[in-house]
Amino acid sequence: MAGIYLHIPFCRQACHYCNFHFSTTLKRKNDFTDALLKEIALRAAYIDGEEVGTVYFGGGTPSLLEPEALARILDAIRKQFSLSPAAEVTLEANPDDVGAAALRSWRNLGITRLSLGVQSFYDADLRWMNRAHSAAQSLDAIRSAQDEGFGELSVDLIYGGPTLTDDRWRRNIEQALGLGVPHLSCYALTVEPRTALDHLIRQKKAQPVDPECQARQFLLLMDIMDGAGFEQYEISNFSLPGRRSRHNSSYWKGFPYLGLGPSAHSFNGTSRQWNIADNTKYIGSMESGLPIYEKEDLTIVQRLNEYIMISLRTVEGCDLGWVAGQFGESAAEALAEKAGRYVDSGRMEWRGRLPARDEDGLRGGAEWGSGVRSERVAGLRTSPETRMDKGFRSNENLKGDEGLKSKEGKWEAVRMTLTREGKLLADGIAADLFFDEAALKG
Ligand code: SF4
Repeated sequence: MAGIYLHIPFCRQACHYCNFHFSTTLKRKNDFTDALLKEIALRAAYIDGEEVGTVYFGGGTPSLLEPEALARILDAIRKQFSLSPAAEVTLEANPDDVGAAALRSWRNLGITRLSLGVQSFYDADLRWMNRAHSAAQSLDAIRSAQDEGFGELSVDLIYGGPTLTDDRWRRNIEQALGLGVPHLSCYALTVEPRTALDHLIRQKKAQPVDPECQARQFLLLMDIMDGAGFEQYEISNFSLPGRRSRHNSSYWKGFPYLGLGPSAHSFNGTSRQWNIADNTKYIGSMESGLPIYEKEDLTIVQRLNEYIMISLRTVEGCDLGWVAGQFGESAAEALAEKAGRYVDSGRMEWRGRLPARDEDGLRGGAEWGSGVRSERVAGLRTSPETRMDKGFRSNENLKGDEGLKSKEGKWEAVRMTLTREGKLLADGIAADLFFDEAALKG
């Protein structure tokens, strides 16, 4: 199963914090659509006949495209690719573009899911971010989308900005929950270099971001979402059971995807490539039939490090059996060794099905569930607290390396995940677990 991402590089105005590729000059929208159609035809072979399970219109602001343009794009995708009849087709929309007529058109086009860039339900925050919409427009957009039958609805919120108090952050989350939204994507405000926000902070015209406030608001977010029955299936993404974004999940599972449009990235399992981030050059290159892109073939170590980085952000965590299968038993062992100190400090934990032992040798399994730490894992000293989940046979005789290895000595179904505290430092922990070429060979 593969995914298609389409980057729609236009925005009504520039949000101060944004470093995505977009233009506020809208007059080339039609040329862009023509160019995108050419790219769809040119690059159809990239995912090599695989069924396409998800299509994602991102940006920029895809809701700025007229329904006729979206229809042409979707028709071309259906013609060039094997689009699953059950495909998830997501459109990112800004609340100021969401009216009854647009919603009806999107539904008729086969868009199944909307991702709304709400960011805050308070006008003061929106003004500070230089968003083009108001809080009232967000409320209207959510209710109208629901009335039009868009049950699969996601709302983006941003925390950690200087205008957002903890109380307001709580109320933002509760507002989204109160409206019955089944999926939330919540991002810490990041000051990216060369953005307007970066410039304003340097000139002391905007307050800098307070990391402690961000950490506090992230913890608050996790607590509220947990209490509301949402699963934090990725560091920044929360959903009710069964309501995850299938498109984003496919990135995290390492599925191939084709990225179309300026700045869009593609991945085929062994290499990444990315289109030029310039609308005029992109349109020109498609007119000439010569796409402009850069490409990187991933080394084994890069693939392993990417897997560590991405998997640790997900609820499924880093699968050591998969690491052993793809990169060798010694890589799994070295990774577990390095992770030991984070398990000791309560920032990571082990999960998985352990082989159980009886007089006849190994048999069955025991599941170490959420919040469980092993007594000893592959020679690593960890917390002494051990708990076996219901439904799986525990075996108190299991100690030491045997605990995580099958009869064949494989790391079957053994995973490591971040704890609540670990999630605060996710990317730093992942980077600390990275391999270099020499270490992997060793
Ligand atoms: S609408 Fe989205 S893509 Fe456009 S400037 Fe704002 S944050 Fe960036």
